[in-house]
Amino acid sequence: MLATMMYGPGDVRAEERDEPTILKPTDAIIRLSASCICGSDLWPYRGSNPITAPLAMGHEYCGIVVAVGSEVKSVKPGQFVVGSFCISDNTCPHCQYGFQSSCEQREFMSGAQAPLARVPLADGTLVATDELPPDDLIPSLLAVSDVLGTGWYAADAARVQPGSTVVVVGDGAVGLMGVLSARQMGAARIIAMSRHKARQELALEFGATDIIAERGDAGVAELKKMTRNVGADAVLECVGTKESMMQALECARPGSMIGYVGVPHGVEFDGQQLFFAQKGMLGGPAPVRRFLPQLMDLVLTRKINPGRVFDLELPLADVARGYRAMDQREAIKVLLRM
Ligand SMILES: [Zn+2]
Repeated sequence: MLATMMYGPGDVRAEERDEPTILKPTDAIIRLSASCICGSDLWPYRGSNPITAPLAMGHEYCGIVVAVGSEVKSVKPGQFVVGSFCISDNTCPHCQYGFQSSCEQREFMSGAQAPLARVPLADGTLVATDELPPDDLIPSLLAVSDVLGTGWYAADAARVQPGSTVVVVGDGAVGLMGVLSARQMGAARIIAMSRHKARQELALEFGATDIIAERGDAGVAELKKMTRNVGADAVLECVGTKESMMQALECARPGSMIGYVGVPHGVEFDGQQLFFAQKGMLGGPAPVRRFLPQLMDLVLTRKINPGRVFDLELPLADVARGYRAMDQREAIKVLLRM
């Protein structure tokens, strides 16, 4: 089969690889209905993470189960499933508390930018639908697997409530999903920080009420102006740079929460500054498994359409072009067809 491998910064190839097989009795093999490229795939692509051996790329997936190991009980061949990019048993204490992304048996999914993928701990990781979903819902169901689940977690961790004033820092795919999530949670005001017209328009479509195009201190000043100099009730940080994290902290009012889901690179905090700021932070890899049933239901009943976030569709063979387009910000998020 054709699968996506990253050999080094800027070097992504679709090449012939062996099909995955059941390695453990708790594994499942799925045939992907579609795959996609994640913003986090750009960290190694841009050289921010060292690559010591070729990486089997791809961690967002949904599709049909084709085989299961002897111990798998909750899913069977022929079923359509969505899974989290974090592999979890869904039974350990952390899973029970709803933090499946800190599972005692945690693994990170890989190899899903390919037609077939192996999913470890299938019982704990996958959720099946009652019937096969219609084709037009595939992009939205795929989005649930990571990008929507992560945006949702940012809003959940920031404790967005009905009536909240919410700021979303970052207009990438996750930030846009954060806007959609805050809207679903009943936020009254959702302020998206974005400088790009196409992304601003999508943010408004997903439920943003205001746009701030300024960045850094100027962006914070604009936000303060909008909130009687108080700041926001909840802030979603969806980038992971030092600048975006500082912007998030300064936009949050004392007593509020920041949900941060951009993988931090080069971010450091000053203890005393944090102490006197009186702002809470909860982030990390999203426990998407906690949200899967609810988010899949919202998609299947057509209450949300997160698949709108894909603005470029390519065949898997052109995956290198997809990475380039996201790296150059020519595309928000790329859907890969098998
Ligand atoms: Zn667990």
